[in-house]
Amino acid sequence: MIYKFSALCYNKHTNNSKKGDKMKIRCKNCYRVLNPNEEYCTNCGEYSERMHRAMVTGDYGPDPVGKFKMSFTLYALVGFALSGIFQIVFALIENKLNNGNGYTNLFCQTNSLFYSSIIATIVMLVSFRKDIKSYFPKINKNQIIGSAVVAVLTIAIVVIMSNLSDITLVLPKYVIQYLESGNAIFFDWQGVCIFKIAVGSILSSICLEILGRKYLIDALDETMLSDKAIYFITSVVVTIFEIAWIMSLEIAIASLIINLVSTGIYMYTNRNILINIIMRILNVLIVLIIFIL
Ligand SMILES: [Zn+2]
Repeated sequence: MIYKFSALCYNKHTNNSKKGDKMKIRCKNCYRVLNPNEEYCTNCGEYSERMHRAMVTGDYGPDPVGKFKMSFTLYALVGFALSGIFQIVFALIENKLNNGNGYTNLFCQTNSLFYSSIIATIVMLVSFRKDIKSYFPKINKNQIIGSAVVAVLTIAIVVIMSNLSDITLVLPKYVIQYLESGNAIFFDWQGVCIFKIAVGSILSSICLEILGRKYLIDALDETMLSDKAIYFITSVVVTIFEIAWIMSLEIAIASLIINLVSTGIYMYTNRNILINIIMRILNVLIVLIIFIL
C-alpha cells in the first residue's frame, strides 16, 4: 500500500519533468538501467547518487546522448563543412590577389581555421550556455597537481618531437616554416599572421575539448563500456576530429599523444575540462614562442 502510494507520488513527479522520459540512469556498479525511483539497485544493492538527486529535484538531468548528437552535429557543420567552404573561398581570394598565380595552404588553412574556430566557439557558447558551469566541477589539490605535472611533461615531449622529424610536428609544416622564416608578423587583417594562427589553434582546440571530448565521454558513460574502452575510443575519435579540422596528417602523432593525455586528465579530474583547456592554450603559446625565436 505504502509502495503504491509512493509510486503514485513519483509518477506525478516525473510527469512534471519532460526530460525524465528520455533520461537513463545506470547503476554505477552493474551498469543496469535503473527504474524510476530505484535509489538502490535491486540487482546489486549499489546506491545511486544521481537517482537520489533526480528524485529530490524532479530534474532527471540532461540527456547525454542527445547532447552528444548536438555537439557532434555542430562540430561536423563548422569543423568539417564550414572550414572546407572557407578553404575554397580563401583559395579563390588568394588566387585573385596573386593575379591568378594560385594559392597556398598557409593562406587558405590559416584563414579558414581562424574564422571557423571563432564561429564554432560562439555557436558552442550560445548553444550550450546552460552547461558551461558543469564543465568545471570541483577538483582536489592532488588532481590539480598530478594533472598539471603530466600536462607540462606532455607539452615538453610534443615540442621536442616536433624538432625530431617531419611526421611528428605539433603544427602543420607550412605554419612552422612561416614562423621560422623571420618574416612572421603579429597582425595583418588580410594576410597570414601570428595572431590568426594563435587564435585559430587555441579556439579550435577548446572546441575539441568541449564538443569532442566532454560530450563524447558523457555519452559513452551511459553505455556498458568500461572506463578503459571509453578512454581509448575518445582519444582516437578526438584525434581524428582534430586532424580533419586542421587538415594536416603531419600533426597526427602529436595530436594522438595530446589527446591520450587530455582524455586521461579529464577522466582523472572528476570530468573537469579546465586543466585541458589551460594545457591547450599553454601548448599553443609555448610552441609559437619557440618557433618564432
Ligand atoms: Zn547494480
